[in-house]
Amino acid sequence: MSPLVASVLGGVVGVLATLLGLVMWRTRQQPAEPIPAPLLSPALKTTIEHLRGPAAVLGPHDEILAQSLTAASSGVVRGSRLARTEMLELVREARRETEPGVLNVDLPTSPGMPSRRLALRVAPLGDGLVLLVADDRSEALRIDETRRDFVANVTHELKTPIGALSLLSEAITDAADEPDAVRHFAGRMSTETARLNELISQIIALSRLQSSDPLLAAVPIEIDEVADAVLDQFRDQADSHQIVLSHQRSPGITIRGDQGQIEAALRNLVQNAIAYSEAGARVALTTRRVHDAAGDWVEVSVSDNGIGISEADQARVFERFFRVDYGRSRAHGGTGLGLSIVKHIAAAHGGTVSLWSRLGQGSTFTLRLPALQPETDEGSAA
Ligand code: ADP
Repeated sequence: MSPLVASVLGGVVGVLATLLGLVMWRTRQQPAEPIPAPLLSPALKTTIEHLRGPAAVLGPHDEILAQSLTAASSGVVRGSRLARTEMLELVREARRETEPGVLNVDLPTSPGMPSRRLALRVAPLGDGLVLLVADDRSEALRIDETRRDFVANVTHELKTPIGALSLLSEAITDAADEPDAVRHFAGRMSTETARLNELISQIIALSRLQSSDPLLAAVPIEIDEVADAVLDQFRDQADSHQIVLSHQRSPGITIRGDQGQIEAALRNLVQNAIAYSEAGARVALTTRRVHDAAGDWVEVSVSDNGIGISEADQARVFERFFRVDYGRSRAHGGTGLGLSIVKHIAAAHGGTVSLWSRLGQGSTFTLRLPALQPETDEGSAA
């Protein structure tokens, strides 16, 4: 190679090396590719994760970016997606229209159980993000339904004595010249008025029970004393039906509660035991203290050897206005509310009421209430 060519080649290589060095230097000097900011701010993610109800934030491709603890257990989210296509459509529409949206969905719970009604609300958050929040409406709907049923039942029940009173007053007008007939109809009017009074006081008692907590003003109650007082109220009635009342006591056992309510519960049970037994029957009230894994309890049982209740009806007798035999209930002035009142009182005192019965043999209703521990719960009960 001639010295000239060699020096030209050397120059070219030198220039190339310089250029390469320059390029590498420039590349090193250029800022790094920016790391994309997270789609969802950490603060919003934490907020969503701590919400009590079902909630989620969805990304631009419907992927779940954050969800609350209950989002999956409520059935709103399944895996990494929304559980239902109609939910997805709601989210997409909110994203497209940049408008909030609402949807009610019924989600199945366990087999044989009523489905859960959820009200879903979605709101676009920008950048393709959509917030979804669900509100469980099942309990509110159930309460509404119970209230509607109750009003319908009350209206129906009130119509009967009011209708009877109206007919009887017409009968009195027609029989104005017959004193015996007038006396007869007037007597029946007073029976219907008493029935109406009883029904109204039971309805008031039930609605008071639903809106008050007896444990707020609870006092120690010696259960055998209340039982004595209740049995005394029924002695004449039992005698006139040749029914024998007995009381097996466990002195000194005490509960905490509203004395008036406990008395009302026992009154309903004793009254039923007499009303649904034939002449010569025995009604026994027994008190005892029992212990189980949940603690100490006072049990008050009212047993009769009366007509008994079939297995199918046993499941329904605590429902409001349910009667096995409407005529027999009416004959003793029953309203169909007594046992639902007992059930409410038991629950409000932290207890239960249970039933054993056999058709033609008799029934035992057992009220089980938390026992008062004299040494720990209430000094005054000792
Ligand atoms: P009622 O006012 O009709 O007695 P309750 O709510 O007290 O209403 O009782 C509901 C129904 O349960 C009664 O109508 C009756 O058919 C049945 N029942 C309640 N107690 C007894 C009992 N001791 N023996 C048989 N049947 C009973």
